[in-house]
Amino acid sequence: MPIPFFVGIGGLCMSLFVGNRAVLWNFALMSAIGLVLLFLWRRLYRATRLERVLKKVSYINYFIEVETEKHFCIRRTDFDAARENPYIFEDRLIYWHHVKDVTFDNTITNLRVLFKNKEELILPNTYDGWYAFIKQVPIELFPDFDTKIVDDLYKQFEACKICSAIAVLDKVCHNCYNDVWETSWSKEEGCLEIDYLKEEQLSYFATAEEGESLDFSLVAFDRFTDWELLVSEDEILKYSSEFFW
Ligand SMILES: [Zn+2]
Repeated sequence: MPIPFFVGIGGLCMSLFVGNRAVLWNFALMSAIGLVLLFLWRRLYRATRLERVLKKVSYINYFIEVETEKHFCIRRTDFDAARENPYIFEDRLIYWHHVKDVTFDNTITNLRVLFKNKEELILPNTYDGWYAFIKQVPIELFPDFDTKIVDDLYKQFEACKICSAIAVLDKVCHNCYNDVWETSWSKEEGCLEIDYLKEEQLSYFATAEEGESLDFSLVAFDRFTDWELLVSEDEILKYSSEFFW
């Protein structure tokens, strides 16, 4: 606790003891300075603590995507905030002509890719892009692939107010990977649903480079018909130039 605070307390004791008005003022002044210093110290302490916590953040993420008719890609992202270059990307390209069969396991949470050379690859539904991927398995190459399972899985999805896709499962959208708004957040975070939706739409539809046109298309999921874009195209471009270009 800051020293002026104690000096203030000392001042109060003295003023009570000697009945001196000047000492009483000294107490008030020093206490005020003490409280300001206490407030600043707590803010600084929290900021450095947050910095320390963020530096410890690390994760490994997998994203699977059909890139062309001939192949798909599994992107491994290794993030460690403590490194000078926190992101390390590793792409594995898999060509369909090397694949003999694609099947679901019994739990329908993993996709099993069997290669012609007998190797095997398991793709769990925890990989980002998994739900879009299972819709894009080329059935002309794998006619036994169980599309009924895919259809049944897709029946579980609900609409996402952010990106328009009917792709929400367990409060997470499997198209834009945003969390569904929860009403308790307005109390906890002090913000409104409309502001959350606008912010996430700006971020999701933002373009990576100047001159790139906006893309609202959906690859695998159906569109929610009553979906509303809550920001203008100009606002998306302004946001993009501010954060990405
Ligand atoms: Zn979404």
